[in-house]
Amino acid sequence: MLKCEHCGTILEEKDALRHKTEDGREEIICKPCFQKITGVDYDTFAFRRENAKQTIFAVLFCVAATIYAFVEKGPLWGGLGIVLTIAVYLFASKAR
Ligand SMILES: [Zn+2]
Repeated sequence: MLKCEHCGTILEEKDALRHKTEDGREEIICKPCFQKITGVDYDTFAFRRENAKQTIFAVLFCVAATIYAFVEKGPLWGGLGIVLTIAVYLFASKAR
């Protein structure tokens, strides 16, 4: 059993959040306290983080495809790959 260091609520392991304080200490907190401290709802925070991760994967995939196109198909296809990469990046950051 874990306990929120801010309000003292008993937390299940899965509900306990680890929050880094400004002095670098890690503390166990509950979701409502997370929202109070950071000003961001935890689910929104987790969603954004997940989204950012997917964007990185998508962009990395496009970069790899671009390099492949450059090597295998020549500069024209490589150029198309770059355009695609930028489009994916812009779309992903707008969707957030
Ligand atoms: Zn709390």
